[in-house]
Amino acid sequence: MEEPLVGRMREFGTTVFATMTKLAVDTGSINLGQGFPDTDGPARMLERAVEAIKGGLNQYPPGPGVPELRQAVSDHRKDWYGLSYDPGTEVLVTVGATEAIAAAVLAVCEAGDEVIVFEPFYDSYGAAVALAGAVRRPVTLRVDAGRFTFDPAELAAAVGPRTRAVLVNSPHNPTGTVFTRAELEEIAAVCREHDLIAITDEVYEHLTFDDVEHVPLATLPGMRERTIMISSAGKSFSVTGWKTGWICAPPSLTRAVQTVKQFLTFTSSAPWQLAVAFALREEMEWVAAQRAALQAKRDRLMAGLRTAGFEVLRPAGTYFVQTDIRPLGFDDGLEFAMRLPELAGVVAIPTQVFYDRRERGRHFVRFAFCKKDEVIDEAVTRLQRLG
Ligand SMILES: *Cc1c(COP(=O)(O)O)cnc(C)c1O
Repeated sequence: MEEPLVGRMREFGTTVFATMTKLAVDTGSINLGQGFPDTDGPARMLERAVEAIKGGLNQYPPGPGVPELRQAVSDHRKDWYGLSYDPGTEVLVTVGATEAIAAAVLAVCEAGDEVIVFEPFYDSYGAAVALAGAVRRPVTLRVDAGRFTFDPAELAAAVGPRTRAVLVNSPHNPTGTVFTRAELEEIAAVCREHDLIAITDEVYEHLTFDDVEHVPLATLPGMRERTIMISSAGKSFSVTGWKTGWICAPPSLTRAVQTVKQFLTFTSSAPWQLAVAFALREEMEWVAAQRAALQAKRDRLMAGLRTAGFEVLRPAGTYFVQTDIRPLGFDDGLEFAMRLPELAGVVAIPTQVFYDRRERGRHFVRFAFCKKDEVIDEAVTRLQRLG
């Protein structure tokens, strides 16, 4: 049979995570590639999910999500960011942030429309834009004073007559950058000037370090009305397998996204929704402790990578640290990552796979630190062999 996959999806073969996780299993390596925690979320939240199942919450919940979760999301936005969203018309529960991103792009983009993305970008963005028949316009994040940032002139130059939306991820995976208020102002100005929709992926909203503040783009002047704000329980509560996310947006945008969502999945799994509603109300202290623990893990891995000979960039948020491999005598991160299991028994992700212009990320490699201390320590010990 000739290739059955439609042309617009062919560049998205197997994700790098599947390849690298298989490599880790096949070689018995420590997997600092894929970003999932190796410990559980808050125990009372897990118990709530069990209770929900045993209590019979096992049939289709309402399309927009169970009322308890929509109310909890609305209250959480208000408490944390001072943003008011009506739980009846401005909150939609989705199957993780991934579905929210895809449904948002599919809802607002006509074929041929352009979407601005900051590269390196989370791999689902490219696929979501392609599914919509839209075109991505990358703006490159470059290292300046030890962190990844963008040139506002490059952002302005990326806008054209077909630009429909900007996809903004802060705290940013895979670079660990948390956009400053000044950077967000630049993005907001472009959105307002060209009447663009902002789709914001804020799954790491609570995982920032060194007291760096996460500022939602929707809090900036003129932005709430044009922003689809996306979040998820997966990263905040260490339940990446629950796939429970949500959008907050004005009624017309929420309705548009729900129109698509109802034919992708109709509705999102019921039991997790009650548990996440509980967690948003009762487990934010657990999240604060988790964030402190993650910051210590970040420091632990950064120190180890430095002694192993990497140049290390300090992330202000997320699960990830970026390294430059050139001090070790390598210059291609893909080749380096493929050889790392044999050289040191560790798996990492070549950052170049997140770029449209791969050469711009050629010498970066990403390591995840959302792992037990002993796992980080063993990886660090093994990586000393590189020196
Ligand atoms: C993990 C992640 C997601 C996916 O979130 P889910 O809720 O698991 O779908 C989306 N965006 C970024 C940047 C992520 O790191």
